[in-house]
Amino acid sequence: ATTENTNIVIFGASGDLTQRKLIPALYQLFASNLLPEKFTVLGVSRSGYSDESFRDKLHKALEDSENVDSVTLSRFIEHLYYLSIDPSDSSQYGKLKARLDDLGQAHGTGANNLFYLATPPSLYGLIPQYLAEQGLNKESDGWKRLIVEKPFGYNTASANELDDVIHEKFKESQLYRIDHYLGKETVQNLLVFRFSNGMFEPLWNRNFIDYVEITGGEFLGVEGRGGYYDGSGAVRDMFQNHLLQVLAMATMEPPSAIRADAIRDEVAKVMQSFQPLSDDDLKKNLVLGQYTASEVRGEMLPGYREEPGVSDESRTETYVGLKMFIDNWRWNGVPFYVRTGKRLPTRVTEVVIHFKKTPHPVFGKDAPENKLIIRIQPDEGIQMSFGLKKPGAGFEAQEVSMQFHYQSLEEATLLTAYERLLLDAVKGDATLFARSDAVKACWEFVEPILEYKEHPDALFGYAAGTWGPKEADDLLKNDDRAWRFPCKNLTNTEY
Ligand code: NAP
Repeated sequence: ATTENTNIVIFGASGDLTQRKLIPALYQLFASNLLPEKFTVLGVSRSGYSDESFRDKLHKALEDSENVDSVTLSRFIEHLYYLSIDPSDSSQYGKLKARLDDLGQAHGTGANNLFYLATPPSLYGLIPQYLAEQGLNKESDGWKRLIVEKPFGYNTASANELDDVIHEKFKESQLYRIDHYLGKETVQNLLVFRFSNGMFEPLWNRNFIDYVEITGGEFLGVEGRGGYYDGSGAVRDMFQNHLLQVLAMATMEPPSAIRADAIRDEVAKVMQSFQPLSDDDLKKNLVLGQYTASEVRGEMLPGYREEPGVSDESRTETYVGLKMFIDNWRWNGVPFYVRTGKRLPTRVTEVVIHFKKTPHPVFGKDAPENKLIIRIQPDEGIQMSFGLKKPGAGFEAQEVSMQFHYQSLEEATLLTAYERLLLDAVKGDATLFARSDAVKACWEFVEPILEYKEHPDALFGYAAGTWGPKEADDLLKNDDRAWRFPCKNLTNTEY
């Protein structure tokens, strides 16, 4: 539809995210005919590219990638333009306005503008102000939308401040805060799986669920981004946003409709029900860790403090494990064990629902329990495990499982997270973007952890390639439970 015709303006266009994620995602959308008929992509940053040299750089970056067709790529590249200005200098935004007017007229894209902020976060508050000085927030001649990359704030105060500054010039309905986990097919599937099946939702509560695990593990370390990571840590980088979003999708109430605000109302509501962490919780239910050097599958991996850009006295956590509760009718008393870390044995994100045992264990107390595993990445899918009679004499129960793998669907070309999110923003669908109240609720929930990080006893070590500090195992052991070991075989992604 013509209302979708748009100029996509990327601030931070010379950067890593643009080259590695945004442009490849736009290419794939273009190749699948999903972008509007008329669109331009205007890269903006200080580096002195021309349209030609910007196109050349991205052409080179994409041409050897898988799934890139050279004819389609050449057609796509013609939509790219570049403007060299310093986005922190308000006096240069007149040039941006003039360039957008020209592009809009020349290409029939009009004044629909999607601004993507992929600069250092220190500019997230400034750019919207400067856009507004040129009237580039006004929607009288076409829609104006603002996509803001993570991190949205550094703590509650800075997130609120950023929100206030942006809201001075842009309405909440114009704002699209990226949480790329929400762009993942399997995170969205949590909604469909829960609310389109009559057989699960009746059991999805404190009466039938014993506990829930959420794991977001990475095998990689800080990969050359040590300088950035050392000022951030796992709580800010993964836990506050991605893991709490996944938790919310797994625990929210059914929305009144599949509409952005109806869904986001329920997400915000469950986040506001996370039980605030007391001093006692911080001591007993929280484990922060940092990886140390270790040999993993024949390779010597450095410890976190040896990584480039990281201080050798750093106390930044690369692991967080937390036992937490949700104070509402559905979940009262059910523990949620949530963990994320770098340099864990493998890359895996999954939600494991552990159902309660039968009231009377006629097949012995070690009979298998029912587990539902929702695998978010890699090898997206679902596994349900249950007890079955062991063939032969007697009545012994053994655990068996049923599995579904997304890859086995015929239509298995999943949109990547950035493809889905860019497409939704072009269409004006904010369902999969984090809303202001939800972001606030998550920051408020983690605020005590951010303060506790400074405590001298807060940090434990763990060897690279292990599942985190031993203290995190004790979180469950003390409750007579154990973390699920997510993969049978670490060299593939078997459940
Ligand atoms: P990057 O490679 O450092 O690029 C940042 C861009 O901003 C560059 O194009 C740079 O262009 C411009 N820039 C840097 N310092 C500036 C300054 N002081 N004033 C004005 N412009 C400046 O960063 P990135 O990895 O692309 O990440 C961009 C944003 O996305 C960051 O906020 C990051 O947190 C977020 N993010 C990145 C990733 C990722 O995988 N890379 C993932 C999630 C979120 P010029 O020097 O040419 O102006």
